Amino acid sequence: MRDASTLIASSAVRLDATPLEPLPTDAEAERAFRSIIRWIGENPDRDGLHETPQRLVRAFREYFCGYDEDPEEILKKTFEEVDGYDEMIVLRGVAFESHCEHHVAPIIGRAWVGYVPDRRVVGISKLTRVVEAYSKRLQIQERLTAQIANTIEKVLKPKGVAVVVKATHHCMISRGVHKRGADLVTSRMLGCFRDYPMTRGEFLSLVNSDVET
Ligand SMILES: [Zn+2]
Repeated sequence: MRDASTLIASSAVRLDATPLEPLPTDAEAERAFRSIIRWIGENPDRDGLHETPQRLVRAFREYFCGYDEDPEEILKKTFEEVDGYDEMIVLRGVAFESHCEHHVAPIIGRAWVGYVPDRRVVGISKLTRVVEAYSKRLQIQERLTAQIANTIEKVLKPKGVAVVVKATHHCMISRGVHKRGADLVTSRMLGCFRDYPMTRGEFLSLVNSDVET
């Protein structure tokens, strides 16, 4: 559970939260959800809804558990004995679920993460955890894409980083323009992926040959 002391301890949280105000308690969050249930015209005391505020609090903890993670810390354990391996490493199609910061509607997608190491590599599960740590927050896809790439660049200092994210946005499906079937593609290319079209092309062909979202 988060509390004020973990807020101060974690720089990742400090960036995205308001450290000066004490965090609302679970009970306060439950009361807020109960108000929303009444506000839409429902009776929060009927059988089916009686425990919904508590369930919503637990669900929101899960949706937004990324605030408890420090993505830079996740990447710090690296391996240097790679026998000179300096080719592209690509993790393809990592499934993620996030929520848009404008409507708290689901963003469901996949991320392709590539880098060209400079002596140091990282365990592949760590890249997945970085995607998870940033996606389990209130997001916009453009920032999610940039944060994944920038963190890998900052911590691993590789020769280049490439990230492509493809996702569907439920705020476009269940509200607003009500459009199904459209997905948004964002990318961030750093270092050799930005400077060398062939390197970028090799990465993008690996992205495009992967199973579509
Ligand atoms: Zn939205």
